[in-house]
Amino acid sequence: MGRIKFKRILLKLSGEALAGKAGTGIDLPTVRRVAGELADVKKEFPDVQIAIVNGGGNLWRGETAAAAGMERAQADYIGMLGTVMNALSLADALRQLDVDTRVLTAIEMRQIAEPYIRGRAIRHLEKGRIVIFGAGTGSPYFSTDTTAALRAAEINADAIFMGKNGVDGVYDSDPRKNSSAVKYNTLTYDDILKKSLKVMDSTAGAMAKDTDMPLVVFNLNEAGNIKKAIEGQQIGTLIKGSK
Ligand code: UDP
Repeated sequence: MGRIKFKRILLKLSGEALAGKAGTGIDLPTVRRVAGELADVKKEFPDVQIAIVNGGGNLWRGETAAAAGMERAQADYIGMLGTVMNALSLADALRQLDVDTRVLTAIEMRQIAEPYIRGRAIRHLEKGRIVIFGAGTGSPYFSTDTTAALRAAEINADAIFMGKNGVDGVYDSDPRKNSSAVKYNTLTYDDILKKSLKVMDSTAGAMAKDTDMPLVVFNLNEAGNIKKAIEGQQIGTLIKGSK
C-alpha cells in the first residue's frame, strides 16, 4: 500500500463528469466508470474517507434558465434537484459494486435520501461509507463548487479533490484554446486572485482560502488519478493551504 497523504477527502465531481460524450444527461457507463474508480480506491485504501459533492450542470444550470426568463431562485432549485438525480445515480452504481454509500441532501427528501446532518455525515465517513452530498448548499445563488468548499470545511476534510473533465490542472490560459498554455504544479490562493485564474467561482474560492483548504485539481478521465492524488503524487495542480 502506498503512503497516504490525504486521509479524508472531499471529491468535487462536475455534473459533466457523469455525462457521456454529448456533455449532457446521465450516461450510465460513465457513472459506472467513475464508481469503479472509487471502488478501487476504497479497496486499496480502506482507511481513506471519501465524501463527494457532485454538480448538476449536465442536467440544468440555474443561471442559463434565469437568462432565458425564469426566476433565478426557482431556476436554482431545479438545479439543486438535478444534483440529487446525479447523486442517486452514482450511489446506485457504487452500491452495485458493494461500496457502502449514503446520500445526504441539503433539501429534505426523506423518502429517497437522508437529510444533511453534519455529525451524521462524519459518522458515516468514520464507518468507511462513501457519503454523497446532494442538493448543493440547499440555497439558490450558490454553486456546487461553493458546496464543496463549505462541506469540506464542515467535515474537516484534509483536501478538496477537484476532478476535471479532460483538463489536467490549472493553466495560465485555456489549454483548449492556447497550445502554449503553461500548467502550474503548485499555487497559493493569493496567486489565484492575483493572476485571476479560473479554478472555482469566487465565492467558492473565498471560502476555500478562508478555511485554508488544500485543493488538488486533476484530470478525472485518467484512470488511477484519485489514488495518485491521495498519495500526494504530483498530478495536476496543488493549491496549497498553509497546512
Ligand atoms: N445550485 C444552487 N445552489 C447550490 C448548488 C447548486 O442553486 O448550493 C444550482 C444552480 O442552479 C447550479 C445548479 O444547481 O447551476 C447545478 O450546479 P453547478 O452549476 O454547480 O454544477 P456543475 O457545474 O458542477 O456541474
